[in-house]
Amino acid sequence: MSAKIIDGKVLAEEVKQMAALAVQTLQQQHGITPCLAVLLVGDDPASQVYVRGKENDCAACGIASRVYRLPAQTTQAELLARLADLAADDTVHGILVQLPLPRHIAPDAVINAIPPEKDVDGFTPVSAGRLLRGEPCFVPCTPAGCLRMIEAAGVCAEGKHAVVVGRSNIVGKPAALLLLRHNATVTVCHSRTPDLAAVCRTADILIAAVGKAGLITGDMVKPGAVVIDVGINRGADGKLHGDVDFESVSAVASYITPVPGGVGLMTRAMLMLNTVQAAAAKTGCDLGFSVKNPVRF
Ligand code: NAD
Repeated sequence: MSAKIIDGKVLAEEVKQMAALAVQTLQQQHGITPCLAVLLVGDDPASQVYVRGKENDCAACGIASRVYRLPAQTTQAELLARLADLAADDTVHGILVQLPLPRHIAPDAVINAIPPEKDVDGFTPVSAGRLLRGEPCFVPCTPAGCLRMIEAAGVCAEGKHAVVVGRSNIVGKPAALLLLRHNATVTVCHSRTPDLAAVCRTADILIAAVGKAGLITGDMVKPGAVVIDVGINRGADGKLHGDVDFESVSAVASYITPVPGGVGLMTRAMLMLNTVQAAAAKTGCDLGFSVKNPVRF
């Protein structure tokens, strides 16, 4: 078998077009331009690239973006004060704090200061709790993008066995909860899982979110499985590699996502949709899709 590639570039463009149309609706019918505020502390090169990408995506969708580039010495109190201003600002609909933060700032304290209605990353405990309980919420963008890719492949998660490798709060756990919402039977694997290969081989849908290049090889994949590669690993060759060994796995899987050109682009696109949704929620405007109720969108 030679797996079909789920093209993140094409899908991300579709999602961004959906966001751009929603922006037009909000502007024309409600006089609102969705606005995303991004806080970047310090000069981590990868974070700077990610934030520039978000600015570009906002511009492409007609979303206003405000990026606050703060020096690495910014104190936690200063950052919290800035967040309080943005929380109170009615013209700002989404707030995102770019992670990682410098060591002297506690990420949880900062994330907790984002009001749930502006939590377009879906990282606050309130959003996580709502996702856990199956309530409308902002879903973290990476898992939301993964589900979108599975749906785009024409695969319905309902009744399937989904295996998620990785249990982080921003990818693995919310991906598992989202699959559960879609009525999959879900297994979560992690660094202490014995015989990872045997568990992976039982997966109809396999999501790899670990951060270890090439961890998932073809012999770990059930023939015909859908394989979603979240991993982003910079190789010694300077190139980006996923957690999935593309060559051996694509010989076994039915669908596979590439790295680069896969989940990463979807993550960015889903942020646009979450931001539009945050603005729409203030108007009661029905955009015809719902990220906050992510079973179908
Ligand atoms: P993390 O380090 O927070 O979590 C990694 C998880 O992998 C942990 O739960 C750990 O238990 C598990 N793990 C580690 N070694 C393992 C092993 N040998 N077998 C099974 N499980 C193992 O990482 P994260 O933030 O969830 O990110 C995971 C990867 O996804 C990274 O490569 C990251 O760069 C990438 N990522 C990509 C996107 C995107 O948009 N594509 C977004 C977020 C993260």
